[in-house]
Amino acid sequence: MGLETLSPSRAGDFKHCPQLFKFRAIDRLPEPTTVHQARGTTAHLALQRLFDLPAEQRNPEVLYDLFRQAWAELRTGDEFEGLFESVEDERAWGIESLEILANYFSIEDPTSFDPIDRELDMLEDMDGITIRGILDRMEETPDGRLVITDYKTGKAPPERYAIPAFFALKIYALLVRRRTGKTPDALKLMYLNGPTVYEIPVSDAQLDAMDRQLRALWTAIDRAIDRDIFPTRVGRLCDWCSFQEICPAFAETPATEAVGVA
Ligand code: SF4
Repeated sequence: MGLETLSPSRAGDFKHCPQLFKFRAIDRLPEPTTVHQARGTTAHLALQRLFDLPAEQRNPEVLYDLFRQAWAELRTGDEFEGLFESVEDERAWGIESLEILANYFSIEDPTSFDPIDRELDMLEDMDGITIRGILDRMEETPDGRLVITDYKTGKAPPERYAIPAFFALKIYALLVRRRTGKTPDALKLMYLNGPTVYEIPVSDAQLDAMDRQLRALWTAIDRAIDRDIFPTRVGRLCDWCSFQEICPAFAETPATEAVGVA
């Protein structure tokens, strides 16, 4: 059976390491939930809800309350239940999360605009390939530019490594162009832990290149599924990979040696 839909995240997985893609998209192996994921999910929900409110109510105290409410809803769900070993650990995580969220207001003024879309579920059939993903936010700036924005609660990579982080946003820009006929003007990554903002302009030529790259990835994935061959690609990502213990690349090599191969 071939590929049915592809998300920007899974496309990124295959690009980094086909075996990682297999573990996640084909085998659907569970991965341990981390406190960083809990912070990301909760902060996204709080920021999404901040824009449900009238502009004059979008202030830090309201955002902190929205974060607390969102965590109260999420903490007992299957994904995050039992994540913290003690109440003290959870409280320390909460305090750190609010400190990171406070940075948001030094990056932008949420009272000055209303996003066009938030948490938009995008499913696009693109002549033979079907791409699906959730776009964080899209807005028009006061000077009329269409911008796609992604929130991150982690720390930003150094600027020289920032461009690969735009991979998913370029796919979303392609989907937006396909759906609306309008090419977004810019892509923005907002790293709240820092904070750091990276923004790059978008061009039709760039999106045409992404279209070709996605089709090539789709073909490569289909071929990998057909042949059941998913090569490992050992690199820096392995340090954070949940599957290192079962990864073929580490099966014959002591982990300490394999991790060093970048
Ligand atoms: S440990 Fe490294 S090589 Fe193995 S699946 Fe994960 S990212 Fe790929």
